[in-house]
Amino acid sequence: MMHRALITGAGRGIGKAVAEELARCGHRLVLNYHHSEDQARTLQASLHGLNVDAVLLRFDVTDVDQTRKILREDIKKNGSIDIVVNNAGITKDMLFAGMKFESWDRVIRTTLTGFYAVTQPCILGMLKQNWGRVINIASLAGLAGNPGQTNYSAAKAGLIGATRSLSHELCARGILVNAVAPGFIDTDMLKNIQIDEKDLLRNIPMGRFGRPEEVAKVVAFLAGENASYISGQVIGVNGGML
Ligand code: NDP
Repeated sequence: MMHRALITGAGRGIGKAVAEELARCGHRLVLNYHHSEDQARTLQASLHGLNVDAVLLRFDVTDVDQTRKILREDIKKNGSIDIVVNNAGITKDMLFAGMKFESWDRVIRTTLTGFYAVTQPCILGMLKQNWGRVINIASLAGLAGNPGQTNYSAAKAGLIGATRSLSHELCARGILVNAVAPGFIDTDMLKNIQIDEKDLLRNIPMGRFGRPEEVAKVVAFLAGENASYISGQVIGVNGGML
C-alpha cells in the first residue's frame, strides 16, 4: 500500500538512500534537509523524473517550534505522514575528559530533541488511521559504545530507549516503532572519524564498510507490510560486528 514517508536528513548519505528505496516501494515522500539544499533539490528533481511525489521541507530538527509548525502545515496541506524515518544525526567526537558542553549538547539535541520534535506532530494522524511506522536510525555505538563518542553513544542509546517505550505505547494501535543500528557505513560521517581506515576495517568481520543502500533496504522492510509483527526492536546492519 502507498503511504507518505518523511525522511529527515534526506539530502545525502543514508537518508538519501532511504528516500530512494522508499520511492522504489511506491511511497510518496517528504524530504527534510537542513544545510544540504542543493543535494535535496537534486534528489527531489530525480524523484520527480521517476514520477514520485516528493515534497521538500527545510527545518532544523533541534528547533522544536519550527519543526512542529512546518510539519503541521505540511500535514494539513498534503495529508498524514504515515512513516517517519528519524535519520538526521551528527557526530562531534572527542575524548570525554576534554569534551566541551557544546559538543555534548548538540549531538544529544540533534538525535533526541530531533526525535521528539519530528515524531510527535506525526503521531496524531497515525492514531486516527490505526497505522503507522516510526523508524529510528540509531547506531552500533548506542549498543556497544565507542571511545571518543560518549555524547553520540548516549544519544543513540537514548534513542533506543525511546524506541522501546514508544513501541509499548503505540504498537497495539497498529503503529510499529523500531530502530536500525548501523555499524560503519560509507558516508560523509565516516570520513570524519579520526581512526585509521585499516584499523577500522580490521574490526569488521565482513572486512568492509556498509553501503547506505544496505541500511535503506532494512528501513524499507520495517516500513512495509511484511514487518507487521515487529515492534520495539533494534536491527543491526553492521557486517557482523557485535
Ligand atoms: P551524514 O553526515 O552523511 O548525513 C547526516 C544527515 O543528517 C544530513 O542529511 C544532515 O542534513 C542531517 N542533519 C544533521 N543535523 C540536522 C538537523 N539539525 N536538522 C535536520 N537534518 C540534520 O551521515 P549519515 O548519512 O552517515 O548518517 C545518517 C544517520 O545514520 C545518522 O543518524 C547517523 O548517526 C546514523 N549512523 C551512521 C553511521 C555511519 O557509519 N555512517 C553509523 C551508524 C549510524 P543537512 O546536510 O541537510 O544539514
